[in-house]
Amino acid sequence: MSINKFIKSECTQCGGHLEFPADAVGEVIDCPHCGQPTKLVATVLVAKLPRSRILSAGLMLMVLVLASGLAVFVFVRKPATAIRPVSSKLVTNQVATKSPRDEILTNEFSITAIKLEKTVGSSLMYVTGEVRNLSERQRFGVKLVLGLTDTNQVPVGEATDYHQVLEPRASWRFKALVLASKTASAHFDSVGETP
Ligand SMILES: [Zn+2]
Repeated sequence: MSINKFIKSECTQCGGHLEFPADAVGEVIDCPHCGQPTKLVATVLVAKLPRSRILSAGLMLMVLVLASGLAVFVFVRKPATAIRPVSSKLVTNQVATKSPRDEILTNEFSITAIKLEKTVGSSLMYVTGEVRNLSERQRFGVKLVLGLTDTNQVPVGEATDYHQVLEPRASWRFKALVLASKTASAHFDSVGETP
C-alpha cells in the first residue's frame, strides 16, 4: 500500500515540484529541476493533512450543528402539528346535554335547549340555551345558574348568566361562560329574579 502512496513536496533549494513514493521520505536526492541535493520531506503532506482534518472536523461539526438544529426544529415543530388534530376536534362542538325538546318549567320560566359549546380555536366554553318568561309581568335581574359536571358526572362548578329585564312572554338566549376546564356537561340548576 505504502509503495503506491506518493507524496507531493517541493525542492528545498528551488521550490520545484517533487513527487516521490512515501517510502523515500528523508532521502536526499538530486532535484530534477535544479540538480541540487534536496531532502525529500513530507512537509506539504504533513502540513496539509492536519489542516484537511481540521477542515473536515470543522465541516463535521457544522453538519452536526445543522443536524441538531434541524432536530430541534423538527422537535419543536412536531408537538405543534400534533396539537392541530386535537384542536380541530373542537370543531365538532355543541355537545347537547339534553335534547332540544327537553323543557324545564319552574317559577314561571321555561328553560330549553341547554347546550355546552366549545369555541373553535380557543379553550373557552359556554353554556347556551333559552329562558322564556312565561308570566304576564316583567322579570327583573333574572339570574340563571347551571351546574357543571366532568366526564364522570362529578360536579366541577357552575356557570351563571344574568339578564336585566325580561319582558312578559319574551325569551332570552343566554350564554354563560364556563370557567371549569374539565366541564363535560351542563344542566339546569336554578333561575330566578335577584333583588
Ligand atoms: Zn530544486
